[in-house]
Amino acid sequence: MNGVFLLTLQALLYFGVMAALLRARFAYGIGLFVCALGVMHFLETYLAAVFFIELPFGLLSPGSTVLFSGKLMMFLLLYVREDAETVRQPIYGLMIGNLLLVGLALILRQHETLAPLPGYQADMRFIDQIGILMVWGTLLLFVDVIALILLYERLFRAFRRRALPALLASSCLVLTFDQLAFFPVLHWVTGTPFDALSGGWAAKMGAAAVYSALIALYLGFVEPADRPALSSRRLRDVFDILTYRARYEDLLARAAIDNLTGAGTRTAFEELRQRRLERRSVDPRPVSLAMVDVDHFKAANDLHGHAAGDEILATVARALSGAVRAGDGVFRYGGEEFVALCEGLDHPGALALAERLRAAVAEAFAHDPDRRVTVSIGVATSLPGAGDLGPTLAQADARLYAAKRAGRDRVVGEI
Ligand code: GH3
Ligand code: MG
Ligand code: MG
Repeated sequence: MNGVFLLTLQALLYFGVMAALLRARFAYGIGLFVCALGVMHFLETYLAAVFFIELPFGLLSPGSTVLFSGKLMMFLLLYVREDAETVRQPIYGLMIGNLLLVGLALILRQHETLAPLPGYQADMRFIDQIGILMVWGTLLLFVDVIALILLYERLFRAFRRRALPALLASSCLVLTFDQLAFFPVLHWVTGTPFDALSGGWAAKMGAAAVYSALIALYLGFVEPADRPALSSRRLRDVFDILTYRARYEDLLARAAIDNLTGAGTRTAFEELRQRRLERRSVDPRPVSLAMVDVDHFKAANDLHGHAAGDEILATVARALSGAVRAGDGVFRYGGEEFVALCEGLDHPGALALAERLRAAVAEAFAHDPDRRVTVSIGVATSLPGAGDLGPTLAQADARLYAAKRAGRDRVVGEI
């Protein structure tokens, strides 16, 4: 029983830290979570190859039980709280990383280690074994994650939107499949005894139960779903996105890019606002909006023609997109009006950013004395964690008009 206790302890530690990193993604970005997941992948494969313990129901490895099952479940959690576009990134990243590892190992093998130091003998056979297991394990992981997400979506609907039974059933099914597919290769590569097939399976079922309960708790208490529906997407679409099968045009349409300027569309901006509203309880960052309007644009249109006007709009959008931070959004709000959405800045920071936007537009036209294009900008910053951006938008709009009244080509952040 000591073994079960230690495994549970590992699962709790693993889940606790990974869930905390996931929860912290609004404040620190998703990179922390993804990197930590990748590092665990190495320990997982190492343990799954050589580290076994004996429990009453058979042989098992903490690598498969705690870390592999855990990783699969963390992917499912990431999908539930984010989306398929986010989950596919680490899946492909792991696969490419593993192939890279094998490629490097192949080259490393060509070294002649002339005078091996005592105690420093590299075990290349072991590297080979790990390499095979990593590649096979990651290919399986790819299939597992897609199956798990699709099954979960199906079962979540079948179980009338109750998360726990859907988590439990989908993870048990997928981990059973995984054990049956992984073990033969493990046996072939490392000669792991058959006793580990059933032992490992039983352990994975235990892991499925523990992690399902932990995820249900996370979804219920740590980051409650304020999305009305988990996902209204068809399973087919989820599959296409996970496997990057969605065509480029689809992606463009999904990302909702404005044809003329390359900025986000008004619809995309409204969708973002809606998402923000649904997440208000979990995303503590303030949001700053900068409403940008081209000065005397009608005159530019009249003077140079509509086509030239279009070109000016595209240049303005490029200048804005080049001046915001990575992760900020620039959207075409109306004819010659843009809105930049920036999260996590205080108001003085947002004003400084808006000033950068203004300068970037002026700079973009600086080489052409006939076409001096400037913009006026109104900036407003929401309260931290505010969900409804309506008041912030209205405030930014009012300040934009104040900027126009004050003579244009300026940023206004208070009235
Ligand atoms: P200001 O904002 O400084 O007060 O003056 P303005 O001349 O820019 O005034 P306003 O914002 O009312 O003018 C917007 C003009 O933008 C009207 C319309 O002809 C033009 N416009 C809107 N959409 C497009 C477009 O897609 N292409 C072009 N070429 N012009 C557009
Ligand atoms: Mg306008
Ligand atoms: Mg204008």
